Amino acid sequence: MAPGRESSVALVTGGSRGIGRGIALELARAGFDLVINYAGNETAAQEARTEALDTRRQARIETCQADVSIAEDRQRLLQFTRESFGRLDLLVNNAGIAPSKRVDILDATEVSFDRLMAVNLKGPYFLTQAAARWMIEQAGEKGAKYRPIIVNITSVSAYAASPERGDYCVSKAGMAMATKLYAVALASHGIRVYEIRPGVIATDMTSVVKEKYDVLIEHGLTPIKRWGLPSDVGRAVAAIATGALEFSTGEVINVDGGFHLRRL
Ligand code: NAP
Repeated sequence: MAPGRESSVALVTGGSRGIGRGIALELARAGFDLVINYAGNETAAQEARTEALDTRRQARIETCQADVSIAEDRQRLLQFTRESFGRLDLLVNNAGIAPSKRVDILDATEVSFDRLMAVNLKGPYFLTQAAARWMIEQAGEKGAKYRPIIVNITSVSAYAASPERGDYCVSKAGMAMATKLYAVALASHGIRVYEIRPGVIATDMTSVVKEKYDVLIEHGLTPIKRWGLPSDVGRAVAAIATGALEFSTGEVINVDGGFHLRRL
């Protein structure tokens, strides 16, 4: 970073734990200042902040509680970012939940469906809308040196059918389409939009199915025979964020050990 130059600012939703924390750490390392958003686990958010500062002492890292499924919280989160940093260069829509119980699609409930849609789809869809409006405003002020980016963390579940968590799959497929919609709508404003599709990544979310996936991985679920790590996703986000894909938008990046490859 040149002396006197403002750092770029990233907002990572669900940055307190798991993949989001991995993204926050890699972005701090890459020179970003950060807002680490979390839903309720303040201790985890503070730990993520401390770890991010350990990667780069001069980084400015703030934490902000906000539930992305609630409109007022989304507004407050962006307002916090504006008041703390005065700019937003990168939005990472990472916050997401799995169904509290895996239930066959014939028995699944509307309560679970509504919750999954609210957090995994409606939240990031409208956070993107509000962030994009602010980014367009900033583009008008800052000119060509401002290169805003939005990254959506979806999942292999955007295309792989798991009928025992259909609501999760539908929410991720929805965000895959949202990536395309925003990529088309925002390109003329100089905003690029990307989708990262993680495979099986070791986090709290997958800890409940660890034994099942240990066996599947051992038996060849993925050509690369290991669990993914939050840092695997973090490094992919950092590569995009630092300009590796300047002439691409709406691009899907699989971070899945090769899970998406059809084999014969
Ligand atoms: P995780 O370990 O359960 O962490 C979830 C994070 O999201 C936490 O920081 C949590 O905050 C936050 N969060 C949850 N609900 C929120 C809400 N309503 N508003 C704001 N923040 C919220 O999950 P993960 O495995 O890292 O997953 C992160 C993302 O990657 C999700 O979108 C998930 O669908 C996706 N993904 C995960 C995998 C995998 O194998 N793990 C694979 C593909 C895709 P608190 O700490 O405050 O609870």
